Amino acid sequence: MTRAFNFNAGPAAIPLEVLQQAQEQFVDYHGAGMSIMEMSHRSALYEQVNNEAQSLLRELYGVPDNYRILFLQGGASTQFAMIPLNLVRPGRPGAYVKTGAWADKAIKEAKLVGETVIAASTESDKYMRMPTAEEIVIPDNAAYLHVTSNETIGGTQFFDFPQAGNVPLIADMSSDILSRPVDVSKFGLIYAGAQKNLGPSGVTVVIARDDLIAESPTTIPTMFRYSTHASNNSLYNTPPSFAVYMVSLVLNWIKGKGGIAQMDQFNRDKTKLIYDKIDQSSGFYIGCAQPQSRSLMNITFRIHSEELEKQFIKESEKEGFVGLKGHRDVGGLRASTYNAVPLESCQALAQFMADFQKRNG
Ligand SMILES: *Cc1c(COP(=O)(O)O)cnc(C)c1O
Repeated sequence: MTRAFNFNAGPAAIPLEVLQQAQEQFVDYHGAGMSIMEMSHRSALYEQVNNEAQSLLRELYGVPDNYRILFLQGGASTQFAMIPLNLVRPGRPGAYVKTGAWADKAIKEAKLVGETVIAASTESDKYMRMPTAEEIVIPDNAAYLHVTSNETIGGTQFFDFPQAGNVPLIADMSSDILSRPVDVSKFGLIYAGAQKNLGPSGVTVVIARDDLIAESPTTIPTMFRYSTHASNNSLYNTPPSFAVYMVSLVLNWIKGKGGIAQMDQFNRDKTKLIYDKIDQSSGFYIGCAQPQSRSLMNITFRIHSEELEKQFIKESEKEGFVGLKGHRDVGGLRASTYNAVPLESCQALAQFMADFQKRNG
């Protein structure tokens, strides 16, 4: 068996140990005579999966007791609409920090729903950095302040989250959830599609403060109300049971690796290998993000000629690398180095980058 050096942006690498464990349990889950996919989501076995995934996430991330953990569908993209649907009110706009392609999409959806305010934007810097705390202006009447913790396409990441005072801070953590310690109590709501750092696509994790989601407007459809899912332990309708099961395996894997602080160090070690190659290339490779905002999840970089970029991708694919092409909207190159990407993949990429430069520099 050969496993690719998988640098896909999402869906992305899943730990080999997790895939093998799922394979072992695939046909007959805990002696049930069927797979987890084939059993009722009301069964005791599935309830255990649902509860274990929540309690592991609570333990690993230090989620306080007054927060609910929900497993929803529709991806992070549905959260772009669900957040304003549940929280924006007349005279209480949603405030947004505009930092790139994903923040932009969140803003576009929010505008369809109600009043929005831009609290800060780094568009004039081509989204190559995150704003500083001083740049973010939060209106007193804001229903919330929304940030994109990690811009997956641009390759920028927040290292100091804004202080929003009494305004609930909401973060799209789709591409960096569980990659580093976070003080959950500083947030009103955190959400993430699973397919980057938590497992397969199909489930979206929402971590939300009780009081913020207790009373969703009854004028919005039942499935779009946080209160519906909170009061039914994410079992109001049929959940994406296999995806939730896979998330529970990934959480167990993180726990086995020592937890989030260890993940953080591991991710720093991995990305350093590649950022160092960029910085030591005498300008052959050009990092896209400004150094203070460089993402530890998505490394975006360029080569001075597009011809060489094409050649880089072509040759890398021949050597077993997958997913190094930049997002179609921005071009260039991108290496996504989520939790499940092994150190060996990053070592191999650093070596490939050095060799490629030697041949073409
Ligand atoms: C991938 C991504 C999304 C979109 O997620 P879907 O699950 O495909 O809807 C949203 N925000 C960020 C930051 C992402 O990386």
